[in-house]
Amino acid sequence: MLPAPWRVTFVTNPDECNLRCPMCATHADEARAVRPPGAPRRLALPDVLRALDSLPALPREVVPSTRGEPLLWEGLPGLVHACGERRILLNVTTNGSFPLRGAESWAWLLCPMTSDVKVSWGASDQTLDRQLLGGRDPDRALADLRTLLRVREEVASAGGNRCAVSLQVAAREENLTDLTDIVRMAAAEGIDRVKVNHLQVHFPSQRGASLRRSAEAARRWNRAAVACVDTAATTARRGGGQVELTGLVDLPEDGSPPPRGTCPFAGREAWVEVDGRYLPCPAPAARDGLLPWLGSLSTVPLGEAWRGDAWRRLADGWPDLTPCADCSFRSPGGA
Ligand code: SF4
Repeated sequence: MLPAPWRVTFVTNPDECNLRCPMCATHADEARAVRPPGAPRRLALPDVLRALDSLPALPREVVPSTRGEPLLWEGLPGLVHACGERRILLNVTTNGSFPLRGAESWAWLLCPMTSDVKVSWGASDQTLDRQLLGGRDPDRALADLRTLLRVREEVASAGGNRCAVSLQVAAREENLTDLTDIVRMAAAEGIDRVKVNHLQVHFPSQRGASLRRSAEAARRWNRAAVACVDTAATTARRGGGQVELTGLVDLPEDGSPPPRGTCPFAGREAWVEVDGRYLPCPAPAARDGLLPWLGSLSTVPLGEAWRGDAWRRLADGWPDLTPCADCSFRSPGGA
């Protein structure tokens, strides 16, 4: 177990998003239809800072919500400034619509203080991108991405931080043959990395899109992954070098689940849920209360919880916990 988490994720505003991506567990139309009514839940910035300052050592990175759209959280500008004072970098994943302030203003706020801005991308094909990104305007998204890249270069060339800009892509049937075009587009635009995850199936309507659903789909995924690697290796990236690819890990071609590796999170990172609970990882099992209780903002400072017996027992003993046995985060390439 690390003496302090190297990264802390705050689930700041999971109920807020301006898009309706069909795969999203909380903002797809199917999810919105069954979500309990009520005001959006949000973490308060002072609680976030109190949790950070209670740690035995400050983390290297802070992640604002990866559920919901973090750029809609009213505390984000304050968190950026507070992390700057503490010399912590943010790591931000956004749906790429840059709400409230627009791309230019967000880019100038984030680029000097962020290790990596990951922008969700559905496809290089604009019609498909609009469909997979819940109605996002593809022309606007590309213009905003270029704004982000331009500001990133201006900040870096003035001697400031050089934040990476990545595309985050959920691989599925619809965009499988488009993945190489995304890599080409990324190279042409000067993107640093394309991070590919498999579609996480939350609704029956999405099952047929998963590339992990059959041996035949797994074989096509493996071929597509090779094609992406070849494309990145043979396409010059604007600004030099090549586009880095992550997540392109082969699936077993007999259709069996991928072999499980170690847990990437237990005892290394910390999550603070929107209701204040401390969690060891982003797995649904943790949110659903199926892992041991680690405390919450209202009961114990985060630093004290991290040093406590419960977190240590979990960090050492996760292999014996039932939800960890078949956890998809233990797959090579991620969940
Ligand atoms: S549920 Fe998965 S990610 Fe969470 S602690 Fe267990 S193995 Fe790790």
